[in-house]
Amino acid sequence: MNRMRYIYNAETCKYEPVIVSPKDAAKRLLRFLGITFVLGVAGLLYFNSKYEHLDETFQTQINQGLKAEWHVLYKQLDRTSTQLSALEHNDDHNYRVILDMEPLDQSQREAGVGGREKTSEAIMYPLVRNAYLQVEKLKNRLDIEAQSFQQLQDELARKEKMWASRPAIQPVSNKDLKHLHTLFGLRMHPLLGYVRPHNGLDFTAPEGAPIYSTGDGTISIAQYSESLGNMVFVDHGFGFQTRYGHMTKFIVHAGEKVKRGQVIGYVGDTGLSVAAHLHYEVLYNGTYINPINFFQRDLNNKEYEKLIEIGSQSVTSLD
Ligand SMILES: [Zn+2]
Repeated sequence: MNRMRYIYNAETCKYEPVIVSPKDAAKRLLRFLGITFVLGVAGLLYFNSKYEHLDETFQTQINQGLKAEWHVLYKQLDRTSTQLSALEHNDDHNYRVILDMEPLDQSQREAGVGGREKTSEAIMYPLVRNAYLQVEKLKNRLDIEAQSFQQLQDELARKEKMWASRPAIQPVSNKDLKHLHTLFGLRMHPLLGYVRPHNGLDFTAPEGAPIYSTGDGTISIAQYSESLGNMVFVDHGFGFQTRYGHMTKFIVHAGEKVKRGQVIGYVGDTGLSVAAHLHYEVLYNGTYINPINFFQRDLNNKEYEKLIEIGSQSVTSLD
């Protein structure tokens, strides 16, 4: 129900009801609606300029979360790169030095790095592109390091075989060092009666004492000869060969594989020999070399000097 409004009329000295025509009422209504609309639009514009849309707020939160996770990812990439650098350093400066191999140069280590740059260019977001590039570089460095470790492994296997094959012990048991009769060099031959090169060492030992292969290898000859009697030749590979003469008997055959320390025969007095002994030779690339330098697994420096002193006492070989 409409409330009636009154206005004071000074002429009649009365309050008289205010009569509003429909036209005025319509105008007032329109004015009210117009002001309300303008205020509404202004408020909306102000709100939009001041505060982000709800979707944008969510998006911002997601982006912040992604950046935080990205930061963690970058740190992990950095840590992985540092660990790989330490591995590369060890490879170049420890493992390769021990195995007498040249370190990889930087150009080898960087081979293949950058090959995927075109792919990475297609990635729009710099953060993603940089991470992609870093991962690619790490992957290439890892590939190179894996190849390098394979080379180290192959070289280690080769060296192990070489070290096992190299003559490195005395061919008879000689703990008190007294069994070396004479040394390598010019010696008086006990039967021929003149001085000639003695191409090995003579070890005295009772007949039947075991004779050991001084390194891993393959028997190349096991037979009788007039000069060396029952003799065995061992091919150790890597240019080395050892020869054992005057055996009472040998217990190996040509083609047989032997290990360092394996018994191949027994001390005897066969061939051109004047007493039970072992004549022992070492050859490198077909040339006789002094076997005294190949007892490093058996002797320390003091024992080595003592052995030479004992071996120098006799100028006559047993041949
Ligand atoms: Zn000899």
